[in-house]
Amino acid sequence: MKRITVFCGSSFGTEKEYEQQAYLLGKTLAERSIGVVYGGANVGLMGAIANGAIENNGAVIGVLPHFLQNKEIAHEGLTELILVETMHERKTKMNDLTDGVITLPGGFGTLEEFFEMLTWAQLGLHKKPIGILNINGFYDELLALVETMVRKGFLKDVNQNMLLTSNEIEDLLNKMESYEAPAVSKWISKEEV
Ligand code: AMP
Repeated sequence: MKRITVFCGSSFGTEKEYEQQAYLLGKTLAERSIGVVYGGANVGLMGAIANGAIENNGAVIGVLPHFLQNKEIAHEGLTELILVETMHERKTKMNDLTDGVITLPGGFGTLEEFFEMLTWAQLGLHKKPIGILNINGFYDELLALVETMVRKGFLKDVNQNMLLTSNEIEDLLNKMESYEAPAVSKWISKEEV
């Protein structure tokens, strides 16, 4: 993997480990010579991941829509800041630039970006690994819901397995490095339920 996109909150959240791990992820990616692609802002965990990479000589590309430039103040130390028109363009651009995705704790925006990449993978539009860094169990309930989706016949095991999870950065990166996308169709017929 040459570049990884990180989706994470534009806030810091309540636990100090969120910021610490975001910074450490940026640092670890820099040390592995993996470039960071992210939303381009200098707020919340987004700023922490960028700082972790930049302060350790990593390459960081931010992708920010014009209209968010004031709300999500653009980070000034980036290797490159790409300004786009729309949120859709932002996600498309991030996908074009990256070889994989890591999701950290966040809110609606983080989950929206994460699920879009996951559904694109499920439809076979890309074959990139998608990981969750489950810091302090932040995503436990989401992962339980994913289990329910499988149990209730809305999601195949094989698609569930597309989602790589770990509470440890190196372990997650290793899983992503060795990931191979399955070749299956998404839909579940009545006979399979
Ligand atoms: P949040 O997790 O809500 O703090 O948001 C994290 C990032 O997701 C921020 O950069 C938001 O601008 C971004 N975001 C929010 N909604 C969307 C969307 N619909 N498409 C793409 N990015 C979004």
